[in-house]
Amino acid sequence: MTENIQTVTGTIEPSRLGQTMIHEHVALDLSHIRQDNDPILSDDEMQNREIARLVAAGCGGIVEVTNRGMGRDVEALGSMSRKHRLPIIAATGFYKQDYYPRDVFEKNEDEIAALFISEICEGIEGTGIRAGIISEIGSSLNEMTKEETKVFRAAIRAQHETGAPLSTHCELGTMGTEQLKLFSKMGSDFSKISIGHQDLNGDREEYERLLQAGLYIQFDTIGKNSYRAEADRLEDLIFLIEKGYSKQLMLSTDITKKSYLKVAGGFGYEHLFTKFIPALKNRGVSEDIIKTMMIDNPQRFLSF
Ligand SMILES: [Zn+2]
Repeated sequence: MTENIQTVTGTIEPSRLGQTMIHEHVALDLSHIRQDNDPILSDDEMQNREIARLVAAGCGGIVEVTNRGMGRDVEALGSMSRKHRLPIIAATGFYKQDYYPRDVFEKNEDEIAALFISEICEGIEGTGIRAGIISEIGSSLNEMTKEETKVFRAAIRAQHETGAPLSTHCELGTMGTEQLKLFSKMGSDFSKISIGHQDLNGDREEYERLLQAGLYIQFDTIGKNSYRAEADRLEDLIFLIEKGYSKQLMLSTDITKKSYLKVAGGFGYEHLFTKFIPALKNRGVSEDIIKTMMIDNPQRFLSF
């Protein structure tokens, strides 16, 4: 059976995906948690100007990891995907305990796994739009709570059953090793798993532990320099590239607020293409390595 990528506008051949951002939010609403209107992104005039700029900067695919409880809106994703002729992959999943809707606490592992499987195989909330990834499955800072462990186990079982890719959230880069242990214990295929927010980690021993096991890792908060200086991210990434791990590295910006958008004066999704990738090239990283991280890896990881 040939493997394809499941986007919000239907199944596509992997080769149709261009330079792909592996962990983004394009339509989300976290205002109910953060008591603030900044973390609301929608299919409005401002966001469409932002996406038009992003496509012009070279983006050829977005993995949209907003899940249940984060104000996911897959119809908005479908609309933006068509307007900009940009492949967008939607997610099923739950984020981390502070963001769980009530039903997570009420459902058991079997029921949560069944929910994820139905969003991948049948569709999301009656729209007929199917999820193409299980994401962003999160642990809390320096801890994976009991409820988070239940969601992780359900996500892993849905991954095994469907073959869909799975990517995670590591709060400030923590808990990657514990996530690895759980994936190992449950016998996961590491080639379908990617560990998120590792650029916030900075622990090169842990990077190598995850990479040597065969997982992908994501440098996916590029541009969020209040969390970590751009130069430090860059040095860690170059270290890993020089060690020969480029086939397991993927990049993104993880924008979640209007004030981060370029059109609102922020760094913008395009920062990855207009600033960070040029900085890598300046340091001698070849076009081939950029293509590996931005095109080949997402095409391979997202196919099932
Ligand atoms: Zn995120």
